[in-house]
Amino acid sequence: MRKVYEGFRDETLDGIRRSLPLDIVLLNMHGAMVAEGYDDCEGDLLERVRALVGTKTVIGGELDLHCHISERMLRAADVLVTFKEYPHVDPMERAEELFAICRDAAAGRARPAMAVFPLDMIGSYRTPVEPLKGFVERMKTLEGKNGILSVSFAHGFPYGDVADVGGKVLVVADGDVDKAASLAERLGHELWAMREAIAAPRLGIDAAPDRALQLAGGPVVLADVADNAGGGAPSDATFVLARILERGIGNVLNGLYWDPLAVRFCKEAGEGGRLALRLGGKCGTASGQPLDLTVDVMRILEDQVQSFGPAKARMGDTVWVRAANAVDLVLNSVRTQVFHPDAFTPLGLDLAAKKLVVVKSTQHFHAGFASLAREVLYVAGPGALTSDYASIPFTKRRHPYWPRIADPARARA
Ligand SMILES: [Zn+2]
Repeated sequence: MRKVYEGFRDETLDGIRRSLPLDIVLLNMHGAMVAEGYDDCEGDLLERVRALVGTKTVIGGELDLHCHISERMLRAADVLVTFKEYPHVDPMERAEELFAICRDAAAGRARPAMAVFPLDMIGSYRTPVEPLKGFVERMKTLEGKNGILSVSFAHGFPYGDVADVGGKVLVVADGDVDKAASLAERLGHELWAMREAIAAPRLGIDAAPDRALQLAGGPVVLADVADNAGGGAPSDATFVLARILERGIGNVLNGLYWDPLAVRFCKEAGEGGRLALRLGGKCGTASGQPLDLTVDVMRILEDQVQSFGPAKARMGDTVWVRAANAVDLVLNSVRTQVFHPDAFTPLGLDLAAKKLVVVKSTQHFHAGFASLAREVLYVAGPGALTSDYASIPFTKRRHPYWPRIADPARARA
């Protein structure tokens, strides 16, 4: 919403105005924020900060790797760096690196020059897995020598309908924009060459449980990537659960369902209560149909948080209900994706004993769940965040992209 963005922006600008003069301004921004009337909120914010502080102050920005790096952002900032890891386990390290570069620039010991190489690729990529794992390591080894200050692979946010949507390589070199541009281009060609190998494998809504049931033991962790609240999904979609119930698959844990009304009904029933519950399917077509279940209320906890790296993410009131066939569901009242097993374990749930653990998340869950998972599978179900990147109806991107077109470079020429 326009007024929300403008409110936060103006509060930030007021704080900077009150603190002038400043040597360095460091901003922690997502990088793909869109509001009514603003396709590039971070570009707008950076331009206004630049206008306030003048040309001598060093402006540095740390961005989520799911960002759109725009020309406006590049012009207004001196240094931009993105996270290198997805799941995002490295914001602190990147912030320290950004600070060091900006400190050197403010002291006259460095002259950061940025260049971006745009990739005609839209997708989702996982950094703990080869070959991207090795690529991330190599980005780090390129930094701090031969005049290269920072190397970033911005994966891009696939669900932003803006002109700048898509992956990008960003390089910051010391005083030499051509050096930055040539390294960005070289790394960009490497990423293009590995595009098929780094794309996250996705299974269909039936193929994923099929695969899980073929494996001995558990738990097999299924990521319901289409209903990840972190990407803007409602987190009350029922598509995957409906298939699990229709197929009679038991011993399942599934959450987090953002359903404050259902949470309230469960709280009124109390622990030990049994009730007919209409679950999920409430936010629109991306939520699917509500499911009518008879459930036992197993446990209720108020004002809960879950771990997201060193931070805590609010979940609100959290309820564990059990449906037939040992299908355990976790509902909550503050919309958030599943980041960590401690979204569930304080309720008394034993994840190791489940056959399937289905989390509404794309990749952040991986940091906490991978070690306990028999295997991790990604489900390309219906919902808000499609895995079919070729079919996203962009209206503002100007150039063709993979995977909609096999060879966008040729189509562009
Ligand atoms: Zn991200």
